[in-house]
Amino acid sequence: MPIGEATIPVLDRGFIFGDGVYEVIPVYSRRAFRLSEHLKRLQASLDGIRLPNPHSEAGWGKLVDELIARNEGEDQYLYLHITRGVAKRDHAFPQPPVTPTVFMMSSPLLHPAAELLATGVSAVTASDNRWLRCDIKAISLLPNVLLRQLAVDAGCAETILIRDEAGGGDGFMTEGAASNIFINKNNVLCAPPKNSLMLPGITYDVVLELAAAHHIPFEVRKIGKAELFSADEILLTSSTREVMPITLLDGKPVGNGKPGPMFTRLYSLYQNFKSEVMRQP
Ligand code: PMP
Repeated sequence: MPIGEATIPVLDRGFIFGDGVYEVIPVYSRRAFRLSEHLKRLQASLDGIRLPNPHSEAGWGKLVDELIARNEGEDQYLYLHITRGVAKRDHAFPQPPVTPTVFMMSSPLLHPAAELLATGVSAVTASDNRWLRCDIKAISLLPNVLLRQLAVDAGCAETILIRDEAGGGDGFMTEGAASNIFINKNNVLCAPPKNSLMLPGITYDVVLELAAAHHIPFEVRKIGKAELFSADEILLTSSTREVMPITLLDGKPVGNGKPGPMFTRLYSLYQNFKSEVMRQP
């Protein structure tokens, strides 16, 4: 149905408690990219909030195909949202369980502007004050909303999060408010290790797979704040922004302040990989 006609009851636990999880899946040439990986992460998020999956992988596949077919546009992004359903307001899970609410929508996938890829984008840093289960793709995104707004207020594209002592961490970089972050130091691509303080990005995995397949030296290890500021390059990845260069951090140039060779290489590998995957039968 048209999005403006879709409604949910006010007692939906997604609305009342933010009690649900979501996924964002990019669609290229009318085919979902890395669908099974997205559905596996959805399963992990559902397990994380103890909500039984309302559909099998094949069932989701059919719904995804139908959503793509019913919408125009070669490239789309799909949003899947599952909540614990509609019940009398009470923090504890409804007993007996109620039917989960499933909401799906498709939006046009807008590619990052060529100009931004040519100059890079700017970012700010902030203390990561989210909860300790950032590996769950939870719909309760208030901390991420507030953290991303810090970037927008400063005229920047992203907020890079540092989990310092106040946030229960040890001063290491976790991710962006809505992206994963990599650095290039001395021609070695470095990525923070996946743990419960960051979202295991689907694009993050693709980038590390591409680095391995194309013999780009890489390390998965903790990245401290000082190292972030002394990086030769900083890269941002997400399903909707793909791979982007960050060239200004807290007002200081990253490396020489221009998108570097690691970005150029990974961006082109990512584009080639996408077109290869989309050509497969
Ligand atoms: N971290 C956070 C907090 C995110 O919201 C996202 C996605 N928007 C990512 C990382 C990137 O994940 P993916 O590559 O799967 O889009």
